[in-house]
Amino acid sequence: MKNQASGPSLKWSLRMGSLGGIPVYIHATFLILLLWIGLIHWRSEQNLAAVVQGVGLIVALFSCVVLHELGHALTARHFGIKTRDIILLPIGGVASMEKMPDNPRQEILVALAGPAVNLVIAALLLFWLQLDHSLPPDSLSKMFEGGMRQQLLTLNLFLALFNLLPAFPMDGGRVLRAVLALRMDHLKATRTAAAIGQAFALWLGLAGLLYNPFLLFIALFVWIGAMAEAGSEEVKSLLHGNTLAHAVITHFESLAPDDALSKAIQLTLEGVQKDFPVMANGDIVGVLTQDDLLRGLQEQGALATTGDYMHTEVPRAEVDEPLEKVMKELQDCPCHVLAVTRNGQLAGIVNMENILELLRIEAALRQGSAIPPARG
Ligand SMILES: [Zn+2]
Repeated sequence: MKNQASGPSLKWSLRMGSLGGIPVYIHATFLILLLWIGLIHWRSEQNLAAVVQGVGLIVALFSCVVLHELGHALTARHFGIKTRDIILLPIGGVASMEKMPDNPRQEILVALAGPAVNLVIAALLLFWLQLDHSLPPDSLSKMFEGGMRQQLLTLNLFLALFNLLPAFPMDGGRVLRAVLALRMDHLKATRTAAAIGQAFALWLGLAGLLYNPFLLFIALFVWIGAMAEAGSEEVKSLLHGNTLAHAVITHFESLAPDDALSKAIQLTLEGVQKDFPVMANGDIVGVLTQDDLLRGLQEQGALATTGDYMHTEVPRAEVDEPLEKVMKELQDCPCHVLAVTRNGQLAGIVNMENILELLRIEAALRQGSAIPPARG
């Protein structure tokens, strides 16, 4: 369903093997889904064959979802983009690609490859059904009356159509954005695609109210997904092409390892900063974050020394690194601050607040901001 540059964590996931050299994981919650489906069948029919058939259908369906993701991943590979892994969640699959293609034509092909796989599977099932003269289901309402192949055929058609909805978390949203990006800049295309996606969800919701409550449910899913995805797509568009050089802070207050914490209190109260690089011999040797400061005050009071409470691991980044990468590093590090270097020499520091500040300014410059104001 989704293909994204930064996937969910592999924690709680089991490796099932690999397809085309790409590791495939299933999330532990997916096993709960299987158990739940099995239990439902056992309760209603009290026989093992029904349980095996019910669970079997889900396993077959999710195998189709994995093939859908593999469609995205192999097409991306064709354009030189690696996929780290494919994870199967109860809500669908996620292929974690290292990035999306910059070229809109390639993005369109990568996004279309997933639904295309489902259409091919449906066509093969139809062919198989016709070979032994079993007819395919003639309407959606009879979906669960047919055999396993009929049900799987209908589900694959549904997967293809659902993923082609022109709203953001779906492949169709990416296709729409890429088509727009052929004639306008990346950010404007993202905003327009998000607006079209939400208008579409609204229309779908209205149709749901009038005709079928199931559509209302889909509309809600699309609306929420489109909002979340549009926000992160917007940030990505703003980050697009920006390097760390735009966000580096060159004027900052620092502490020495043997400064008392009282100095950090004073600087904090003056409102200068929240996190202080700790310098020795012209280089950063640590960072005293606000949490470190509070911990030190609780344990030893204001006369404790900075060196005893600072984080000593401070990641470094060169000024010409892409902001997107730096942002990810900042999110993963409890230090709140990265040391910025130019040709290996300290050039300044950077923190998340500053990057968000830059993005807000950038958004305002490109008119109309969708980035929420800074916290704190
Ligand atoms: Zn997809």
